[in-house]
Amino acid sequence: MRYPADDDPQFVSHAPGYWPAEAMQKWSDAKWQLRNRVDSLAGLEERINLTDEERGGVLLAGSKLAMSITPHYFNLIDRDDPDCPIRRQVIPRIEEGWTAPEELADPCGEDSHMPVPGLVHRYPDRVLFLVTDRCASYCRYCTRSRVVSGVGEQQLETQWEAAFEYLERTPAVRDVLLSGGDPLLFSDARLDRLLTRLRAIPHIQFLRIGSRIPIFLPQRITAEFCEMLRKHHPLFISIHANHPRELTTEVRDGLGRLADAGVPMGNQSVLLRGVNDRVEVQKNLVHKLLMCRVRPYYLYQCDLINGSSHLRTSVAEGVSIIEGLRGHTTGYAIPQFVIDGPGGGGKIPLNPNYVIDSQPGRVTLRNFEGKVFEYPDPTPMPAEAYDALHARVD
Ligand SMILES: *Cc1c(COP(=O)(O)O)cnc(C)c1O
Repeated sequence: MRYPADDDPQFVSHAPGYWPAEAMQKWSDAKWQLRNRVDSLAGLEERINLTDEERGGVLLAGSKLAMSITPHYFNLIDRDDPDCPIRRQVIPRIEEGWTAPEELADPCGEDSHMPVPGLVHRYPDRVLFLVTDRCASYCRYCTRSRVVSGVGEQQLETQWEAAFEYLERTPAVRDVLLSGGDPLLFSDARLDRLLTRLRAIPHIQFLRIGSRIPIFLPQRITAEFCEMLRKHHPLFISIHANHPRELTTEVRDGLGRLADAGVPMGNQSVLLRGVNDRVEVQKNLVHKLLMCRVRPYYLYQCDLINGSSHLRTSVAEGVSIIEGLRGHTTGYAIPQFVIDGPGGGGKIPLNPNYVIDSQPGRVTLRNFEGKVFEYPDPTPMPAEAYDALHARVD
């Protein structure tokens, strides 16, 4: 298999990869992809050379956050590269078993912001609606690993009827974000009913879905599915790509169908050590996203989730990545770097500092190349100038 270099802007398919050629007959069937997920140590070892850290991680994962990898995504894994940026995202490592002192089970304080089970109402005008606890594949740094995948200590309790009633009696909510778990695991019919039910609430202006299925399972993004979504506009989708290798020809085509159905798309990526913590990787990722008509939206500092210290970077590394993008590439390509405030502060933006000095009446700035500029505040017009202008027209 040919794996493109981190700065290679080509879109390539990796199918059938680790599967026999006959699998290609079923390859574009999303149900086949789900049935054939790699979810056991044996399934991994049949195909790739595991490190001791990974083997230990798989044995520990069973009681924490399940492992499950679609064949489509599995094919992005480099068999022989223990530092492969794809395997770090979906194959557990032994380090997951250690909880650093700063880590938490619910790092964003969601459980304490639920007026009804499954509905997180943190911001005045919008809610996060957790509609399922299942995903097509599981990200090892999942911020909701306490409830997602069904093997952890906590269960996701979602009371749809209670949520609809809460939304009906809360006119301040104009924006509903469906997440989970991954809402696109639902059938077209079930998702259609859910969106229709939300659309029947008059004060809800705007719907969005957060999903990694366009990356894990692009086969799910069928023409019929996109046709169904058209009925529910304005509807945005936030996808989740972290590495340019994830943008394959299948993913590009699925995203193209969504864009053609009029669905504006953003990408939410998570800054991960050894995955996308270099400017060249991020630059290639955001360029490929723009080619797929996806606007980079947020770059998240990795949440303080239990067992994630091996995947987290310092905050300064994130700021320096943004600094390496701003001015150096298309403005549309640059995501907002944010930290989701531990304990429940919401998203807090972090930006490189371009203000070198600030005095009454002027600021001193630097640009992306380090050149220095002064920008003065407006000078109040003197009374004489004002009178002289009036004298000319009176
Ligand atoms: C991220 C998030 C939102 C949406 O935030 P935006 O900045 O509008 O994208 C809403 N509610 C919760 C609880 C969130 O975590």
